[in-house]
Amino acid sequence: MSYTNFTLETDSDGIALVTWDMTDKTMNVFTLEVLEELDAIVDKVTNDEAIKGAVITSGKSTFSGGADLTIMASIFERIHEERKKNPEGVAQILFDQIGQMTSLFRKLETCGKPWVSAINGVCMGGAFEMSLACHGRVAADAGHVKMALPEVKVGIFPGAGGTQRVPRLTNQQDALMMMTTGQNLSPKRAKALGLVHDIVEPDQLIETAKQMIRDGLKPVQPWDEKGFKLPGGQIWSPQGAQLWPAVSANLRKQSYANYPAAIAIIKCVYEGLQVPFDTGLRIEQRYFTEILQTPEAYAMVRSLFVSLQELNKGARRPAGIEKTKFSKIGVIGAGFMGAGIAFVTAKAGIPVVLIDRDQEAADKGKAHSEGLVAAAMKKKRMSQEDADKLLSLITPSTDYSDLEGAELVIEAVFEDRGIKKTVTEATEAVLAPGSVFASNTSTLPITGLAENSKRPDDFVGIHFFSPVDKMMLVEIILGEKTGDRALAVALDYVQAIKKTPIVVNDTRGFYVNRCVMRYMNEAYSMLVEGIPPAMIENIAKMAGMPVGPLALNDEVAIDLTQKIHRATIADLGDKAVDPRHVQLIDTMVDTHGRTGRKSGKGFYDYPAKPAKKHLWPGLKDLYPQQDPDNVSVDEIRNRFLVTVALEAARTVEEGIVTDPREADIGSILGFGFAPYTGGALSYIDEIGAKDFVEMCDDLASRHGEHFKPTPLLKDMATKGDSFYSRFGQGAGIGQAA
Ligand code: NAD
Repeated sequence: MSYTNFTLETDSDGIALVTWDMTDKTMNVFTLEVLEELDAIVDKVTNDEAIKGAVITSGKSTFSGGADLTIMASIFERIHEERKKNPEGVAQILFDQIGQMTSLFRKLETCGKPWVSAINGVCMGGAFEMSLACHGRVAADAGHVKMALPEVKVGIFPGAGGTQRVPRLTNQQDALMMMTTGQNLSPKRAKALGLVHDIVEPDQLIETAKQMIRDGLKPVQPWDEKGFKLPGGQIWSPQGAQLWPAVSANLRKQSYANYPAAIAIIKCVYEGLQVPFDTGLRIEQRYFTEILQTPEAYAMVRSLFVSLQELNKGARRPAGIEKTKFSKIGVIGAGFMGAGIAFVTAKAGIPVVLIDRDQEAADKGKAHSEGLVAAAMKKKRMSQEDADKLLSLITPSTDYSDLEGAELVIEAVFEDRGIKKTVTEATEAVLAPGSVFASNTSTLPITGLAENSKRPDDFVGIHFFSPVDKMMLVEIILGEKTGDRALAVALDYVQAIKKTPIVVNDTRGFYVNRCVMRYMNEAYSMLVEGIPPAMIENIAKMAGMPVGPLALNDEVAIDLTQKIHRATIADLGDKAVDPRHVQLIDTMVDTHGRTGRKSGKGFYDYPAKPAKKHLWPGLKDLYPQQDPDNVSVDEIRNRFLVTVALEAARTVEEGIVTDPREADIGSILGFGFAPYTGGALSYIDEIGAKDFVEMCDDLASRHGEHFKPTPLLKDMATKGDSFYSRFGQGAGIGQAA
């Protein structure tokens, strides 16, 4: 029999080499067809007397990315509605479907012949679960080889035996840590945990795997042997008594029980280790069925897997424009942002000219990369050779003629219209027509800045977030005259530096900062109302935000907030900013000199290390404090989530954001909006427009006009629309590349 996704070659020793290589995909993934073919291969290996055992590997540089989550996403779409009408029927269908992978892997490990997984590259999720079902595992000793069970990151969990096999191979604490965080394991770490048996040079991989079989590898898993003992001790043992009471507490501390999948992993391990292996698999299958029906799984798979991939692949790229290969990028302004932009560009292998007013400032910008490279080498994340190459790509300069030939120039000079004008003109004087000029401004509308340009159709906003090397999101801002080619070049650049783009239309604050301002504004109001600051910070984190709004404001700088207040009032009038907020921020900066983390004094105090930051005690003296027992945790939580979601909805209504996928991804990658919701608009969609409008009216009655539902939301409530039903599938915008 021939297979579409695998090849099978049996050598003279009777060892079958099963090579997984999907011709129509760049990465191997589990599809229904793959499962069927693998099932047939397991049968063949089992029944063919000439075959003594099998080695499974990949024909690609990666092993496999695991299950094809796009298939899962489409199953979700189908069951999401059906579930409301026929919950039990849906649960049964899911239970049966997910059992297919579990049974196949169980069949493989009990087939009576030895299987070895030869892991030659990234091996994720279901593929690692399959490898764990093999009797032997060998990994190639190379930097690109990683193993993980990362499902929790998209709201699901390892549901094909992972939760049962990992803690039967290693200690329970490491097993739980690995699965509840989805962390990557290097071959060395996987071996230390007992999850792989051997690590060898890449060119020895297949031979070593085959030799394991020739050496008589037993085709029986440890848990199928009589007298099997858990490596980390029983649940009901002194070790178990040390570990388990802390497990739930730790999870709650880290994620406030917002992620049902993480909780399910703990239950699977705890319950599954107290019963025989096959019963454990059944427990896992039941919890997996339950988790697949949660709104968190639905929303997280959609946003953090499907939409993220689509945006990364260029969902918003205009069709019919040739892809740009970058031979040179210019960055003007080698300060905080420009230095970071130069680093990520050089890291992507693109030569960068980094320009500042004088050579010293330009050199200082390059020194930022030298620091990052040195830190990466110290952590053994970068070789000397790669470090040298990266640094050689950055040319600090003061000479604009060095920009000649650049396909794209990004300015990150002071936030000053006059300086930006000078820089735009000086750059255009040397840039060939067709090269694109981008501004990294965070507050100045792109349409206005483009007036400084002779070629406004080649002018675009490329808005990075700090720190540039860590933040994965980039906002691309279209001015009124920005042309399709400039957009395409900007998207090609963001793709080249491996970040995620969202494309937004021009407005004050663009998308992300508008939403972030709402988050911080709500915290200012709460402070003024006398809500204890610790409650403000902690409840924001309970709501799923990674950083409390006051800590976030300290990072951004409180005097920057003051500047933004002043600029907004100057441009839009007194009413544009809540006077209570102006007073609070002015008091912090002008009366108390508290400008944020940079000065060691903000909403928090920052004592010298190792002491940790703590809320500034004086904050409580600014306003009469409410009794914490009278403060509703739910109300605070809702205020934070609703005010941000409402702002996201406004940006859609105003045509700033045109695609719900971008609003969702922008909110999660831009400022960590409660990822379990799938993003700011998914949050509204899950509540339902009608209920959300009621929630807004209710909050508005106590906390002000800014909670009033918008006309669009009211219309959606009347029509029963969701953002994805009304604006989804990239309605009315560019095609996927
Ligand atoms: P910065 O003050 O750290 O750096 C600005 C750099 O520009 C300085 O090195 C300065 O010497 C240089 N410069 C000034 N005039 C110049 C000229 N005429 N020619 C060449 N170089 C010149 O500022 P930053 O925080 O890096 O911000 C830069 C831009 O990025 C601003 O537009 C800002 O709004 C935007 N931005 C900042 C952040 C942030 O978090 N700091 C985030 C996103 C966007």
